[in-house]
Amino acid sequence: MGFRPFISKLCHELCLSGWVRNQVDGVVGQVDGEKSKIDEFMVRIISEAPPSARIQSIIPVEVDTADIPTGFHIRFSQNTGDQITLIPPDLRLCDDCKIELLGESRRTGHPFINCTNCGPRYSIIKQLPYDRAHTTMAGFVQCSNCQKEYDSLSNRRFHAEPNACHDCGPQYTFRSAKGNLYGMSIFEAAIDVLRKGGVLVVKGLGGFHLVCSALNEEAVQRLRVAKNRDQKPFAVMFRDKKQLESFILLAKGELSALLSPEAPIVLLTNPPYRSLAPSVNPGLSHLGAMLPYMPLQVLLMQTTEMPPLVMTSANHANDPLIIDDAMAWKFFGSQLDGAIVSDRAIHNRSDDSVVMIVDDILHMIRRARGFVPDPLYMDMFVEGILAVGAELKSTFCIGREQLALMGPHIGDLRTPEALAFFEEGIERFSHLFRFTPRLMVHDLHPDHESTRWVIKSGLPRIGVQHHHAHIAAVLAEHDVRHKVIGIAMDGVGFGEDGTFWGGEWLECDLLSYNRIGHLPYLPLIGGDKAVKEPWRLALAVLMETGVSEEIIYRLLPDIDVEKIRSVLKVGQTPLPIVKCCSAGRWFDAVSALLGFCLFQEYEGQSPMIMEQAIDQLDAPLEPYPYGLGPTPSFSPMVAAMLADIEAGIHRGIISRRFHDTIITIIHDWALISRENTSINHIVLSGGVFQNRYLLTRSIDDLKSLGFDVLCSERFPCNDGGISLGQLAIAAARLKLKESVCA
Ligand code: ZN
Ligand code: ZN
Ligand code: FE
Repeated sequence: MGFRPFISKLCHELCLSGWVRNQVDGVVGQVDGEKSKIDEFMVRIISEAPPSARIQSIIPVEVDTADIPTGFHIRFSQNTGDQITLIPPDLRLCDDCKIELLGESRRTGHPFINCTNCGPRYSIIKQLPYDRAHTTMAGFVQCSNCQKEYDSLSNRRFHAEPNACHDCGPQYTFRSAKGNLYGMSIFEAAIDVLRKGGVLVVKGLGGFHLVCSALNEEAVQRLRVAKNRDQKPFAVMFRDKKQLESFILLAKGELSALLSPEAPIVLLTNPPYRSLAPSVNPGLSHLGAMLPYMPLQVLLMQTTEMPPLVMTSANHANDPLIIDDAMAWKFFGSQLDGAIVSDRAIHNRSDDSVVMIVDDILHMIRRARGFVPDPLYMDMFVEGILAVGAELKSTFCIGREQLALMGPHIGDLRTPEALAFFEEGIERFSHLFRFTPRLMVHDLHPDHESTRWVIKSGLPRIGVQHHHAHIAAVLAEHDVRHKVIGIAMDGVGFGEDGTFWGGEWLECDLLSYNRIGHLPYLPLIGGDKAVKEPWRLALAVLMETGVSEEIIYRLLPDIDVEKIRSVLKVGQTPLPIVKCCSAGRWFDAVSALLGFCLFQEYEGQSPMIMEQAIDQLDAPLEPYPYGLGPTPSFSPMVAAMLADIEAGIHRGIISRRFHDTIITIIHDWALISRENTSINHIVLSGGVFQNRYLLTRSIDDLKSLGFDVLCSERFPCNDGGISLGQLAIAAARLKLKESVCA
C-alpha cells in the first residue's frame, strides 16, 4: 500500500521514465534514465520506502529500453482468479498524520485521520480486492475534498481506502449513564472521567480496551474486578517517549520497537523507577508498555495532565476480545463509567501484539495487531495446508503457494467462545486468501480442542509432535533445511510415547526428529491442578527425595497440613500418576519450593517471579550439581538446593544457581551432540525461553563455544508459534511423499 505512488514520486524526482505495477509475487517495474540516477533510485527504494512496505528482496534485471514509455506511469493490476493478494496489517498513526491531527489542518482533531502510511487495514477488510467498498468504511461516501486526495497520485492519501475527514468520516460516541456525547466534547468528558479515576471501555483497532489511570490503585482494582482478572499484569500506554522515560530507563532497541509502525506492547527490560499503582502488575517489577497508535488515543492523552493509562483488552478473563459496540456497552460500559464506541465497525479481531527486545533483537511473544496477516515467505510449497496449533496461546496458519499466513493470537481454546473465534478466524482467512484446505495438521494431543476440530473435519490430516513443531517453527522462520540440535524448554506437550514431554533434546530437521534426551520426569500430582498450584509440584519433588514429613511441613509453611497429608496419601497409592519432563513444570516446582509462588493465576507467573528475583551480582556462583546422561538426574541438585534453603541462603542466589544449572545442561547437551554428530547449529525454542536470563545466557554461552544459535524472532517461541512449525513439517513430508510417488 502506498508503494507504487512512492516509486512514481521518486522517479519523477530523479527524472526517470518507466512504469510500475503490482503483481502476485510483488511489485514489478521498468525504469530508464541516467545511470547515476538509477543507482540512486536503487538505494533510495530501500532507505525511503513507506513504513507499510515490506521489502523482502530487490532483483534488478537489464531490459531493452525501447519498450519503456516516456514519462512515468502506474499500471493497474487486475485481481483475478486464484491470485493471492496480500493484505497489509493495521499500522500506527504516522508522524505526518499526527502533525495534521494536532496542528492546523482540515483534519485537526479528526479521530479517524489516516493515510497510505497508517491506519486500519486488516481489521476493517471483509473481502478482496482491498478497496473501500469491501471494508467497514463502505457506508461512508468520501466528500469531494477527500475524493480529490484519494484520486491524486501525488497525494499521501492516494488510494488510502479508509480516507476520511470531519465532513465524511465515521464518528465516535461517548456513552454514559448521563447520555450520549458526540464530536470534540467526548474528549473533554472522557479525559475528565479518566483523570478522576474512572474506568472506560474504548474502541481500538482490532477490539475494545478497558482503560483507566495507571497511577490510581482504586481504578485499577475496579478494572480488575470488571475483567475478572486478579493478577495477570496489564500493559500501560504512555503519552510519548518523554512520559515513558520519566518512569523507566529504556534498553537498547526498545524505543524503536515502541515507535515502529506495528507499535506493539514491549515488555521492558528495566523495572520502573517511579511507581505505578501496585495492581497494574502485582508481584512483578517489570512492565509491558506501549505508545498511542490511534488518533483517538493521541487525542485522549495529549493533555500533559493525563497520567499513563492501563490499556488492556476488554474481555472476561479467557474470552476473546469484544469488537461489538453493543456488547462493549452491555458488559463493561454500562457497569463502569462509560464507553467510547464508533460507527466504523471492526470486522477482524486482533489483540495488541507483545514483544520483548533481547540484545537489540525483537522476540515475539504474542503476534496479532500490526503483524497479522503479514506472510512468511518460505522456500517451499505449502499450498492447501491448514495447521491448527496447540491449545493454549492458540494460533492457526494457512499455506498459500509459498506463503505461510498465520492468524492472530486466539488464546486458550478451552471455551466455546474461543473456539468460535478460532473457527471464525480460519473462515475469514480462507475467504480473504482464497484458501481451500487439502491437508490439516494438528498436535498429537488427542484431547486438544484443535485436534478434535481437525478430526471432525474429516479431511486428510497429519499429527505433529509438539516440541518438534516448536523447533520446526524456528527452522521455517530462518529458512533452515539441514539437521540441527533442537533444545525445547517448554510447558507440557504430548509425547510420541503417550507421556508428557517438555524439556527436550532433539536432533532434527523439518522431516523428522530423534529424541536424544530430556529433563527428568516429575509427577504431576493432581493433574491439571498441579499447574495452577505449583506447591503440588514442589511437594512431588520433596517426596521423590524422601525427606521426612516434618521437613516437608517446614518447607511448605503456607500450605494447609491436611492438604499436604492428602497429597502424600495419593503419592503412596499404587495408582499410576501422570508424569512430565517439562522444563516449565520444573521452574514451577522450584519457584514454589523457594516460596515465590505457591498458587498461580496464569501460566508463567511462578517462573516470572523467580526470574526477577535472580541475584544479579557479579559474584561468581556455581550451578548446582546434577547427574550426567541423556536424562540428567536432578537428585544432587535438589539435595544441594534443600541444603541451601535450610541454611537460609538468599533465594535470589538459589534462583540464579537453578537457572545456571539449566543453562549448563543446555551447554552439555550441545557439546555432546557436536561431538557425536558434527552438527554445529543449535535451535532454542519453547515457552520457557521467554525467560530473558535463560535466553541471553544460553545464547552467549553457546556462541562462546562456537555454535550457530537460532531462536524464534518474528514468531513466538511459545505455543503461539506451534502452527507455523506444524505447517513446515507437513509441507516437508508432503514434498517427500510426492517425490517418492513421482
Ligand atoms: Zn498517516
Ligand atoms: Zn472528507
Ligand atoms: Fe509448547
